[in-house]
Amino acid sequence: MIFRQTKPQIILFSSFFICIVILVGCQEPKTKSEPKATPQRIEIPEELPIEIVKIDYDTTQWKEITERSGVVLDIRYATDNNFTKKQIYPCPRCFLRPVMADKILKLQTDIKNKYGMSLKLFDCYRPRPAQQKLWDIVPDARYVTPPKKGSMHNKGLAVDVTLIDKDGEELDMGTEYDFFGQEAYTTNTDLPEEVLKNRKVLTKLMNIHGIKGIRTEWWHFSLKTEKAPLDSWEWECD
Ligand SMILES: [Zn+2]
Repeated sequence: MIFRQTKPQIILFSSFFICIVILVGCQEPKTKSEPKATPQRIEIPEELPIEIVKIDYDTTQWKEITERSGVVLDIRYATDNNFTKKQIYPCPRCFLRPVMADKILKLQTDIKNKYGMSLKLFDCYRPRPAQQKLWDIVPDARYVTPPKKGSMHNKGLAVDVTLIDKDGEELDMGTEYDFFGQEAYTTNTDLPEEVLKNRKVLTKLMNIHGIKGIRTEWWHFSLKTEKAPLDSWEWECD
């Protein structure tokens, strides 16, 4: 059977169809199909560009040396890698009297710019209770300053230090830090040329800033021209 549409029928049908299209087209879909979320991994940089320095100490008396300055900290008494084989400090931080800290920071900037080298600090200010702990473990004045007398470290005017090259390698100073014996004496000349040269460089650099060494420990330097009381405060840890 052939279905024939008349003209009015066609117009009516077309109008109806257009209306449907308009109505459907104008309606908001009830549910929008969300684009499929692909799980994204957020990369957290291992080293944040900005170091947050916490001020939790008396800044009129002390200055903190952090690795932000380029100085490398290897605070051995905050580990058991020291001559006592015991951890003495609760955490590794380096404080000095401002006059001493400024000299160390200036020296760091100079040797970095001129030679690409850096300072590595093994010890800075040492609270008197820590000095007592050392003495309790090794009560021998040849190796540990008696707490009653007090050390330049207790005054915040001494550092135990070595030099590292541009690759971060320690220069050969002949012995480990805190080696007690003649090999560590600065008066000992019976050592390889390289060692003697490295010790001479360290001593010369420190001396430029008025920081002087001692006979029995190549790593120990203090600012004897300054006066400060022995101190006992202990720094905070996170
Ligand atoms: Zn020392």
